[in-house]
Amino acid sequence: MRETITLTGMVLVSSPVKEYDKRIEILTRECGRIPAFAQGARKQNSALSACTVPFTFGSFEVYEGRNAYSVKSGTIENYFGSLTDNYDSLCYASYFTEVARYITRENVRADAELLLLYITFKALQAGLVPTKLIRRIFELRIMSEQGEGLGLFSCIRCGNADAFDVYISEGGLICKDCAKKDSELKKRHPFRLSYDTKYTLQYIMSSKPQKLYNFNVSDQVMAELDKFMTVYLARYIPHHFNSLDFLS
Ligand SMILES: [Zn+2]
Repeated sequence: MRETITLTGMVLVSSPVKEYDKRIEILTRECGRIPAFAQGARKQNSALSACTVPFTFGSFEVYEGRNAYSVKSGTIENYFGSLTDNYDSLCYASYFTEVARYITRENVRADAELLLLYITFKALQAGLVPTKLIRRIFELRIMSEQGEGLGLFSCIRCGNADAFDVYISEGGLICKDCAKKDSELKKRHPFRLSYDTKYTLQYIMSSKPQKLYNFNVSDQVMAELDKFMTVYLARYIPHHFNSLDFLS
């Protein structure tokens, strides 16, 4: 018997292989994003059929093969089934898994990314925070987990911490004084954030995961967040996510 290991994770994608099998990718806390085969998972009454559906969160008993893992069994903790009942939630959930899939790698622990994905799905399921805001919170937070976070607590050029009149530039905030010295800045980075939007970004970057999805914002802040995140992501993730095509 080959030795098995138990991993905690979430199924990101699943595709049919051969007549009865599935190939899945799981974002695991311990080993990052791994490919795994689930033999016979498409057979009726297979014990593997339920735990190999996208968005399923739980623990997976696997053994390591030459190129991929094989799933021996799975214990579902939350399968987030209700997300698939609502088109909007389904699209956002697909987008979050697509981003997680793009950003994470095999053999690099993914504690923060997995936790973020889990609490984001919980927030999506609870429906208390607008999905558009959940999206921006998830994006900013996952970028900051990758070390691509923004310098939002002081001017990234001079370190001035109470520079409230802020421009957003390469990687963070620039104070009024530094902005004055750089005549090209306004052309390259036309953003000036309102105090509320700056505070919202700071909160998203620094809050405890459990408190990430417990606030709402005004329409004005939402519009600024949308505009800012679009440019920020285009700069740091120049990749087209297919699931975005389905989001209005
Ligand atoms: Zn400065």
